[in-house]
Amino acid sequence: MELALPRDYARKVWRAVIEFELLEDGDRVMVGFSGGKDSSFLLYALKMLQERSPFRFELGAVHVDLGFEKPSDVPLLEGFCRQLDVPLIVEKTQIADIALHRRRENPCSSCAYFRRAVVNQTAAAQGYNKVAYAHHHDDAVETFLMSQLYSGRIQTFLPKSYLNKTNVTVIRPLVYLREAEIKEFIETLSYVPMPSPCPVQGKTHRHKVKDLIGSLTMENPFVYTNLAAAMREDAVGELWPPAANREEMREKHRRIMRPAAGDDGRHSE
Ligand code: SF4
Repeated sequence: MELALPRDYARKVWRAVIEFELLEDGDRVMVGFSGGKDSSFLLYALKMLQERSPFRFELGAVHVDLGFEKPSDVPLLEGFCRQLDVPLIVEKTQIADIALHRRRENPCSSCAYFRRAVVNQTAAAQGYNKVAYAHHHDDAVETFLMSQLYSGRIQTFLPKSYLNKTNVTVIRPLVYLREAEIKEFIETLSYVPMPSPCPVQGKTHRHKVKDLIGSLTMENPFVYTNLAAAMREDAVGELWPPAANREEMREKHRRIMRPAAGDDGRHSE
């Protein structure tokens, strides 16, 4: 397959690779490959980088079949990987059962947690030192707002992070790509991404937040870019101090409410 990305998209992937030091000579990179548009784009983009990069790295892919009623279209995924000359491992799991039936209140967080664990463990077991995920810029901004709305924390995922448990480094080379760009590019390929077999797809917290950002951005075009700017460490302005615990409150109470005069209860003049 002749690989080519629009110049601007390739520049964004290279920018992430260089700015966050995602790849180096001798890396073995396993791509978490769901078969959807984002991970298909990632596999394609990394293959292109591999061919044009001044340093050498190996590529592999792992697909986690989550165990939904409709199984993954493995021949489709194998065909795409064969075209790119990337070896594919398929791991069959029952994650859907755990996420949809036993953790109904928040299926996506347990689903994503277990799926990542399978990908990371597979990579480590196969001797890969890096795992690449297809999270893009919209994912980062949505996660940033979701964390505040649903977890009370100011955070999002990092472009690169080391995992002690499995001794692999997670990289996210698409963090500068917008979702619409990925979608537009994938539509130019002959490969049609695998539709998600998940019944809660499109009804998640992420979709609510995506719609919210979308509608606010229609009113004010700077909403999305402002949120993106706020993800940077140097964007933190004034924040309240951490909530005082019971002991600290008692101590403050003693210090602030105690009469200044001392033990006799009279104020000094
Ligand atoms: S939408 Fe479905 S497949 Fe995706 S994370 Fe949520 S439960 Fe898992």
